[in-house]
Order: sequence, then C-alpha cells, then structure tokens
Amino acid sequence: MLPLTFQPIGIVRSCFVEKFGIPRQPGLAPAARAELELLPPFNDPLALEGLEQCSHLWLQFVFHQPPSDQWRPRVRPPRLGGNRRLGVFATRSPLRPNPIGLSVVRLEGVHVGTDRIWLALSGIDLLDGTPVLDIKPYVPYTDCLPDAENRFAAQAPDWIEVVFTPEASAACQQLTDQTGQDWETLLRQILQQDPRPQYQAPDPERRYGMRLKNAEIHWCYQTQRNPSGDTPGYRLIVTSVTPHGE
Ligand code: SAH
Repeated sequence: MLPLTFQPIGIVRSCFVEKFGIPRQPGLAPAARAELELLPPFNDPLALEGLEQCSHLWLQFVFHQPPSDQWRPRVRPPRLGGNRRLGVFATRSPLRPNPIGLSVVRLEGVHVGTDRIWLALSGIDLLDGTPVLDIKPYVPYTDCLPDAENRFAAQAPDWIEVVFTPEASAACQQLTDQTGQDWETLLRQILQQDPRPQYQAPDPERRYGMRLKNAEIHWCYQTQRNPSGDTPGYRLIVTSVTPHGE
C-alpha cells in the first residue's frame, strides 16, 4: 500500500483542553465554540471564497491526542451504556485503525485578519489543538436524510437535570461578564449529557471535575426519587466554577 501523507489545513482552538467532558458528538452543546485557524499555505482567503454562504460544515480531523489503548475490532460505545460491544466500524469511537474524525459544525463566521485567517464555529466536539485535514460544506439536499435509521442510536441520549449552587452560579456570571459567553448555558449543555463513564451509577460521595480553557468545574450527583423510571434517578449539582488565574 502507498504511504499516505496528509498536511493539516488548520488547527482548532477550542474551549475543551482535556478529553473528559467533551460532548460525544457535535451539535449536543450548541454553545461550545471554537476557532479553526488556517495554517500556511492554506491560509489564503481565496480558498474560503463562498464559504460564508454555508451555515454548517463537515470537518475531517485527526484524533491527535494519544489514545489510552490501541484500536480493537469491537468497542463499547458510551451510547450503549458502556457495557455492550459493537464493531468499531458500526460506531463513531475515536479508537479506530486510522484516527480520523468527522464532525458537522455550525459556521458562525469567516474572519480574515491582518496576520491570521480563522473560522468561528459552534456545536463542536473537538479538543483544543485538533489538526483539521479538510473542510467541506454541509449540503442539505444530499446530506440531510430524514428517512435514515440507526437502530443503536435512534435518538439523542437522555439528559440529566443540572443544578448550580449559588456560588457556582455567581462564578458563571463573572465569567459571562468577562468573556461575553453565557457560561451557565455552556456548562448546562456540556454537563446534562453526563460525562461520566456510563457503566456504573455515580458515587454520591465523589466529586467530579473537568477543566475548560477559562475555568475548572466541579460537580457531584444527588440521587432522586424517580417515579416514571425512564430517566436516570439522579441529578448533577455544579458545586464550583473556578476561573483560571485565581
Ligand atoms: N464526531 C466525531 C467524534 C466522535 S468521538 C466523529 O464521529 O468522528 C468524540 C470524542 O472524541 C470526544 O468526546 C472527545 O473525547 C474525543 N476527541 C475530540 N477531539 C479529539 C482529539 N483531537 N484527539 C483525541 N480525542 C478527541
């Protein structure tokens, strides 16, 4: 086989600086924003001509952060509770023979500065520093398939209730004032997907945490009476939001 070499055309600057907590698919946290900065020699405004006519883009990228394990023919997707196996090619697992990812994201703007060119994106599921191999426009008439089926993942996962302590809420407000981004909305969208591994119930004694670019977040779980039985019997309490540099 020929060796194939690809040169990244850009690099993602995202709020997600570690893998834990990143949404498991694009579009699940619409408030999650990133910049895709084009790298030379691809940072040519001519290469972007017409792109502003598109609301959404497909990104082909490299899962550049080294995985914890090697790829295997079968994986345990979090979507199936993390304890059922499926063939790797039947999943969107990052652990694959060629570590190439595919995400559809919203294009918020095309920016041509004096010394750099970048695309503003939202609804991303990408780690900071992700190398992007290609950008293609989302084409609704061919890409949107209303009769498509995936019987393993027929609909979006259930969300859990996210509650902020008054202290966490005040810290979000402070970050919102500083950054212009609504932090409570961003954190709610990230955490309502419950980033924990799904194969075990949360430990009510344990404090969980994740780091975003501007802040460190901690939370815990509270069990809840659940008469209907169709949603998880616990809710997530955001206990602290600590802006970096404090
Ligand atoms: N939508 C993509 C990615 C799905 S997996 C696809 O279908 O190909 C999404 C997970 O990939 C995220 O939850 C995050 O944990 C992981 N991830 C995102 N960017 C990554 C990167 N650059 N390197 C390694 N893992 C990454």
